[in-house]
Amino acid sequence: MRKHFLFCGPSGSGKTSIVHYLLSQFSFMRFSVSATTRPKRHNEEDGKDYYFLSVEEFKKKIEEDAFIEWEQVYEGRYYGTLRSEIKRIEDINCSVVFDVDVEGGMNIKKCFGDNLLSVFIRPPSVEDLRLRLIARSTETPESLQKRLEKSVFELGYEKNFDNVIINSDLEESCKKAKMLVETFLRKA
Ligand code: 5GP
Repeated sequence: MRKHFLFCGPSGSGKTSIVHYLLSQFSFMRFSVSATTRPKRHNEEDGKDYYFLSVEEFKKKIEEDAFIEWEQVYEGRYYGTLRSEIKRIEDINCSVVFDVDVEGGMNIKKCFGDNLLSVFIRPPSVEDLRLRLIARSTETPESLQKRLEKSVFELGYEKNFDNVIINSDLEESCKKAKMLVETFLRKA
């Protein structure tokens, strides 16, 4: 069975930057493009960062059993991993890289077992997370508050992951993530 990779951590922890770095380093990796009902950010592309769906479209896909996992990550904001996405990547003999919330991550772990490397990306502190989210300018004061509340909950999941990277320096964290991938690939 192919090996796959899971990266979780609170919003603003830097996990997406680490995932993008790994994708630039390993040509056999492909990003699992999730479906979401949250609005598209100015720097995002439909079909590349996410498949942006209406709530109705998302619910129809739930009924069709199109998701391997899905969560209402924030109130009214659905996110899910499409089965078709995994098939698309496995069909070209590549490994899937998942960037999902911790609960979705736990479900993905159940699906792939030992063939999945799971890494939790932790910010040095919640205050640090707050500053990063403010600097990113993607949130309203309300959504920022929701993300911070959720992050405290997510930090409690750290122990369920194979590895933890404390992301105080992005360059260092990218190097660590690369080493973890290489070590995992060497394992039988
Ligand atoms: P953002 O809105 O910042 O892109 O993502 C918010 C959270 O949703 C992040 O923790 C992200 O990893 C998570 N997420 C993205 N895609 C999925 C998915 O397919 N399933 C689940 N459960 N969470 C997802």
